[in-house]
Amino acid sequence: MSLSTLLGNEELKKRLTADLRAGRLSHCYLLSGPEGSGKHTLARLLAAAMECTASEPPCLCCGPCRKVLDGVHPDVAEVDDDTKKTVSVELARRARTELYVRPGEGKRKVYLFPRAQDLTPQAQNALLKVLEEPPEYGAFILLSDRAEAMLPTVRSRCVELALQPVSERDALPFLRERFPEKDDAALRRALRIGEGWIGRVQKILREEEKPDPLAEELLDAYAGQDALALTQALFKLERRKREQMLPVLRQVRETLIAALAQRSGRQTEETPFASARTTAELSDACRLLSEAIHAAESNAGVGHVCGYLAVTLR
Ligand SMILES: [Zn+2]
Repeated sequence: MSLSTLLGNEELKKRLTADLRAGRLSHCYLLSGPEGSGKHTLARLLAAAMECTASEPPCLCCGPCRKVLDGVHPDVAEVDDDTKKTVSVELARRARTELYVRPGEGKRKVYLFPRAQDLTPQAQNALLKVLEEPPEYGAFILLSDRAEAMLPTVRSRCVELALQPVSERDALPFLRERFPEKDDAALRRALRIGEGWIGRVQKILREEEKPDPLAEELLDAYAGQDALALTQALFKLERRKREQMLPVLRQVRETLIAALAQRSGRQTEETPFASARTTAELSDACRLLSEAIHAAESNAGVGHVCGYLAVTLR
């Protein structure tokens, strides 16, 4: 039984684990919490638990678990149309009709509603009867970031699981692993800004990786084949700490990879460096950057890494 991929939320996991062990999962869950609270992770875990064939579901390894996690299980359907503002009564009715066709390969037929708060009132009403009395193999998982906006008649038919923010103690080890280049102060700051909603916190940390001005400087110098400017930029980089140098090198490499992709037609997005250098030069620079990054990750000194690039990158 593994709900551990959902961070924090110990109470909720304890309760679900007990229900799973006793074989008394409900047929209708409402997962509530704001964006980035882990609703989607929990929904997949729950759906996997419903289809899992191991003795302690969800094992996350058996065929049905894998299919649910990869989003390809034929008996687990998402009811949504993200081109529309609301989830229509037609979609709800279609799900209601299909529910009565028995599962093709799974134990249960699971319907996920990723934004239940956007179900129109008619759509919610169309679901009332099946939420109340589904066929014995039927199950519903409703996700909502505004559960209070839903019809009370729908809410009362569901077991509501409210996601909670993740504590610093639970979040820090996870974030350190995901963002090895960030120090604890940066991780704590993101946790505070994201109020412990782990998806939101990760988004904040990723967005912090906006182009570093020094990466732009290096790229400009490289594109213009300006050896002096390149040396000066590397000299500035040399004065940084390793964990501040690595993101710059990664950004430079990403840009060069994108330029190569554009040259070979694999990417249509315009990159300013695609025409600046030849394909051979670009791929050579990518290789050098990869070597430098690898060396820095394996604890080579900053001066050593920058010195290496200063003599090789042309
Ligand atoms: Zn399994």
